[in-house]
Amino acid sequence: MIVTKFGGTSMASAEQFKKVKSIIDAKPERQVVVVSAPGKKTSDDVKITDLLYTLHTHLQYGVPYGDIWGMIEGRYLEIEEDLGLDCDIASELARIKSQLKKGMDQNYLISRGEYLAAKLMSSYLGFDFVDSKDIIRFTYSGTVDLERSEQNAKKAFSSHGNIVVPGFYGSYPNGDICLFSRGGSDITGSYLARFLDARIYENWTDVPGTLAADPRIVENPKTISQITYTELRELSYMGANVLHEDSISPLQEKNISINIRNTNEPSCPGTIIKRDCNDDSSIITGISGKKDFVSFDILKDHMSTEIGFTRRVLEIFEDYKINVEHIPTGIDSASVIVSGASVAGCMYDIVSKIESELGAKVRAKKEMALIAIVGRNMVGKSGICARIFASLSAVGINIKMIAQPPDETNIIVGVDNNNYQKAIKALYDDFKSVDWI
Ligand code: ADP
Ligand code: ASP
Ligand code: MG
Repeated sequence: MIVTKFGGTSMASAEQFKKVKSIIDAKPERQVVVVSAPGKKTSDDVKITDLLYTLHTHLQYGVPYGDIWGMIEGRYLEIEEDLGLDCDIASELARIKSQLKKGMDQNYLISRGEYLAAKLMSSYLGFDFVDSKDIIRFTYSGTVDLERSEQNAKKAFSSHGNIVVPGFYGSYPNGDICLFSRGGSDITGSYLARFLDARIYENWTDVPGTLAADPRIVENPKTISQITYTELRELSYMGANVLHEDSISPLQEKNISINIRNTNEPSCPGTIIKRDCNDDSSIITGISGKKDFVSFDILKDHMSTEIGFTRRVLEIFEDYKINVEHIPTGIDSASVIVSGASVAGCMYDIVSKIESELGAKVRAKKEMALIAIVGRNMVGKSGICARIFASLSAVGINIKMIAQPPDETNIIVGVDNNNYQKAIKALYDDFKSVDWI
């Protein structure tokens, strides 16, 4: 059995629904279908999920919301009409409309994007609709209750057979809706594949697979044919958001492979993600990155011999519940690198706490971008960093930080936010010129 997940662009119009149906019809093994809310039809369009968030804000501030609701309603009615379906999506819409009010539960409203999309898709495919609130159960701390959810998934599959399930949400013990983070329909699909022991988890999107670099930065990047779970987790964590990073571990633990495919080019084999890959044709598997990190540069003479210094610094970050990304150190200085968003409200408090509690001088420098160069075939090879440094220096980019974890499958460089795109392009082009990528 195969669990399939179709992302927002695959659900954006009747045209896309037709492509989904022919993919499902082509293999009877594709028995479980997870869907996202309709995404953008064209690049200047708006995703249904974003419209729903805006609608919720309008309700909160008492701003008229008729136009936004009209846009949401219009998208679903259009798909139903264009496909000639008779699933009475209008009644579902009317029910939701009657519930719109200030103070309404945001998670519930946002989840309607996926709910309505799944209603349409189940009617179109002739599969049973099963609500994910009855399968994916969360604990009150927001983690998935694996045991209960697995029982629910198995029961739903054995009693219904072929099913369509909305992605992105589940429910708390009291029945209230809980959402995964943005892009979370990937996670719903991943859990279903795990719970149902799928042969493979197919994740259908709008690119031919995991690309060796962000296609919005590098023109026509290579499609990676095989990648390990670990490599993909490194790339996704650092911004290659073709697949939600949290959707990998549930399958890694069970050794279920993931196949990223393009709904618009179903004949392409896409990318296979698995435990071990034997293809050693490229040294670098991929490059990804993220902007807007903050570096807390800490200066104090002889800090490296002051026992407990690093622990006390890190305790301050822990007190503020800040996740620390990197800690490059020297003899008299160290820096602590964290995401800018995580310290948006407490950056200066942290600076003054480190200064007063540790007697150090601290400068918080914003606008650092981190770039990850990932590859299982880099392990034990000499000359990789030399090439990275040379290609960045050739385009005049200063490296502010470097880090390499002990397994050597990843090298991270910090550059100025302004140089982010230029650095990724330079690295990709250079690796390409010597057939490393
Ligand atoms: P979906 O709606 O199908 O879930 P997403 O928008 O979440 O799709 O993810 C696919 C997008 O991820 C692509 O359109 C692409 O712009 C972006 N992307 C960023 N980095 C990469 C990468 N390394 N490989 C593939 N796609 C990437
Ligand atoms: N619709 C949700 C989002 O845009 C979930 C998803 O598409 O995976 O984030
Ligand atoms: Mg996605």
